[in-house]
Amino acid sequence: MKAPAIVILGAGALETARRIQTLYAGSQVYALHERVTADVPYTELGAQLRELYAGGTPIVALCAAGIVIRCVAPLLTNKGVEPPVLAVAEDGSAVVPLLGGLAGVNVMAREIAAALKVSPAITTSGELRFGTCVLNPPDGYALADIGQGKRFVSDLLAGESTRVEGEAPWLDDAQLPRSASARLAIRVTPRAWDGCEDELVIHPRSVVAAVAAGEGAGDGDGARANACLSGTEIAASVRAALNEHGLATLSLAALLAASDRIADPALADAAASLNVPLRFAQTRPDDGAPPSNLLHAALRIPYETLHDDPAAGVALALTPLAIDANTVGMGRGRLTVIGLGPGSAELMVPAARLALDHATDILGYDTYVKMAGPFRADQRVHGTDNREELQRARHAFELASVGRSVVMVSSGDPGVFAMAAAVLEALEAAANDAWAAVELGIVPGVSAALATAAQAGAPLGHDFCMLSLSDNLKPWSIIETRLRHAAEADLVMAFYNPISRARPWQLDKALDIVRTYRASATPVVLGRDVGRPGGTLRTVTLGELRSSDVDMRTMVIVGSSTTRRFAKGAGDLEGDEWVYTPRWYE
Ligand code: SAH
Repeated sequence: MKAPAIVILGAGALETARRIQTLYAGSQVYALHERVTADVPYTELGAQLRELYAGGTPIVALCAAGIVIRCVAPLLTNKGVEPPVLAVAEDGSAVVPLLGGLAGVNVMAREIAAALKVSPAITTSGELRFGTCVLNPPDGYALADIGQGKRFVSDLLAGESTRVEGEAPWLDDAQLPRSASARLAIRVTPRAWDGCEDELVIHPRSVVAAVAAGEGAGDGDGARANACLSGTEIAASVRAALNEHGLATLSLAALLAASDRIADPALADAAASLNVPLRFAQTRPDDGAPPSNLLHAALRIPYETLHDDPAAGVALALTPLAIDANTVGMGRGRLTVIGLGPGSAELMVPAARLALDHATDILGYDTYVKMAGPFRADQRVHGTDNREELQRARHAFELASVGRSVVMVSSGDPGVFAMAAAVLEALEAAANDAWAAVELGIVPGVSAALATAAQAGAPLGHDFCMLSLSDNLKPWSIIETRLRHAAEADLVMAFYNPISRARPWQLDKALDIVRTYRASATPVVLGRDVGRPGGTLRTVTLGELRSSDVDMRTMVIVGSSTTRRFAKGAGDLEGDEWVYTPRWYE
């Protein structure tokens, strides 16, 4: 289950929220901006709750149940996909599960209520009577048909008893009215439900489908190998094999293929269409012939080969109990290079947050890794103050190429004087097939120049350039030439890495060059720690600017000949002004 969002409206709820937070690793407290500060600020409750709900995030809202219901009401169409939604009294005195009965809301309500030492307001009759939601089997099991499930539970509530056939360990403690001779049966089986109304069928995810390049489907002139099939065709051949054995698609735990096809998009499409994880195996000669050799190579528990069709390239393994897909062969590793934005959670793009939530391993410079947290206990953090970027990039590929989901963290945008280029350089230089097979993605972020500019107004409103003044990785002479050209071209200039203890004189030199082209009244914006606690913003003139006004946490934006500034309002305090560069020239 995804970590819940704990949503509060005021400071009075913070203590209860923090207590609930300790129950769910990775959960964050969302707090109404300007009323209370917690992990993630939001500005409008309704919009925030709807966004969380639509994204399938469990919600624990510390406010009146009615408010929560009104906020998410427009989205309440499909009961099958709703996440758990609970209302909890600010002072922790009441826990009310509202939505998500099939997603475990009552389980959460019991957990939270136990932590707050109150009784949860459980209203689900089946749950009250049987002590468990029969229609909400644990991970690894899937209910065959929700409509039938509801009929079945109402029959039980009406006084019928049931048999249990198959392995259903989670029902051991349920107070179900059991009877060996009952008309009704809960059947736990990988076989497809035959429509019998007396049965509640639950499928254990206990089938693994291996797909290999087929020998040919016998159409005379050598049929197409499944290596060239589309995702839809591969999924169809798996469904056909399942059908042939009377197995339900919902009993499929994973799709398995050879690791040399790890980057094949058709396989990813097929797995998505079958709604199962895609796993890979590296076969050896003693694993036998394809496609069943993949099963032999990937499965470490006893299984029965139900289907082995070399022509179609599909083999099926049936395991005795539900099988965790993570234990089958290995998954395709992922490396996502993200930018955190300047610092505050509000300015991090949602795709970066998502990548962090799904990461098994997080790498990056210590300060940024800390900024990206908190992390769950199951996430490995490889923080380092090692400034060797290429080495960090190689480490990331080593982890991702054995199937881990790695996130590489940069500040601002990862492609602006940051890790994305180092990652690509490491990849190109290595010419390593396993690294090339990693699913590599780069998620943009709000770069320091953009965050600073937005606070100041719009100094980048016309043509501009971004320059790093660091001569660690390029000769100073190149920096001088670029500064001259940029100044002459009348570009607004955003200076990254403007100064450091090891580079004390370079900024003055740079400013001397710019001053030979630009008037001393030119506005210069200085943003320090923008978007971070204690951040400051100042505007000075090029004439006034001294290198002592700047440090390595400062963004320097030097205006062009047209950059202007004006007071925000009559009687404004000094410094309260807008800076912008108009979009036109005279
Ligand atoms: N990838 C980052 C830049 C890394 S270079 C980005 O896109 O923002 C580091 C430089 O960026 C610092 O020396 C400073 O000039 C600037 N910088 C980074 N974060 C900043 C912030 N929050 N406020 C002001 N400047 C910042």
